[in-house]
Amino acid sequence: MGILKPTTNNQQPTTAPAGRPYTLDIVTIFPGIIESHLSESLIKRARERGLLVVGLHDLRDYTEDRHRTVDDAPYGGGAGMVMKAPPFFAVVDAVTALRGSKPHTIMVTPQGQTFSQKRAQELAGMDGLLILCGHYEGVDERVRTTLADEEVSLGDYVLMGGEVAAMVMIEAISRLLPGVLGATEAHKEESHYAGLLEYPHYTRPAEYRGLGVPEVLLSGNHGLIELWRRREMLRRTMQRRPELLLKADLTDDDKAVMCELMKEKKAKANNE
Ligand code: SAM
Repeated sequence: MGILKPTTNNQQPTTAPAGRPYTLDIVTIFPGIIESHLSESLIKRARERGLLVVGLHDLRDYTEDRHRTVDDAPYGGGAGMVMKAPPFFAVVDAVTALRGSKPHTIMVTPQGQTFSQKRAQELAGMDGLLILCGHYEGVDERVRTTLADEEVSLGDYVLMGGEVAAMVMIEAISRLLPGVLGATEAHKEESHYAGLLEYPHYTRPAEYRGLGVPEVLLSGNHGLIELWRRREMLRRTMQRRPELLLKADLTDDDKAVMCELMKEKKAKANNE
């Protein structure tokens, strides 16, 4: 049986300091893939600042044989190898002991519910997560039925392993944790936060190769800028992802703007 230890060689803590940081435990047979992702940029800073505590667990450390075997042939025959249940049970026991209780456990699988910004927001509101990454043909069903609280898919395609899916989730969740990004308020305008796509961005220079910037953004009038941005969020969402509007939180003002945008569109089509 493996001892729970960080498979990392950096000096970031794997146990929580005071102030309840978010704990993220990941089980994988390729910790190196995830380690590099967790050791760069904002996630690295969040770990250094104690906002995020990561335990990266090599499933092979929880095997009991000399060859550290994590897979075996499927009962009933067929192609590919299946990841064995016992190492998963052993690592989940060890993580449970380390954290004091079993964290909400997610198995990443193409058969799960599709990950979304909404789910990232909900998961960011928890104390922490344990993510189980599969490989090969899949994972012994008893892991899913007994250990997983939730199954999450990145989308309707099949990856070679769960590591990329875990990294996507880690990134989407980490940036929502208090203090990880500068201004928490900034999330609220981002695409998918409130069911809309974000407005377009511009930065200096104000003119480049004959391409300008909308006048209002140069006006310094924050009220007008806010109205313009909201209008552009509605316009973009109507153009690109109209189905999102069915679930978006829309005010009466938004609905009035959408009517105007539809009229604008009609007038444009009639002129063409
Ligand atoms: N045979 C499985 C099936 O048809 O459902 C697919 C196994 S896949 C080759 C190996 C592992 O990659 C899975 O156990 C899972 O952890 C991960 N994986 C593959 N596609 C994924 C997806 N769309 N979302 C999340 N994880 C995925």
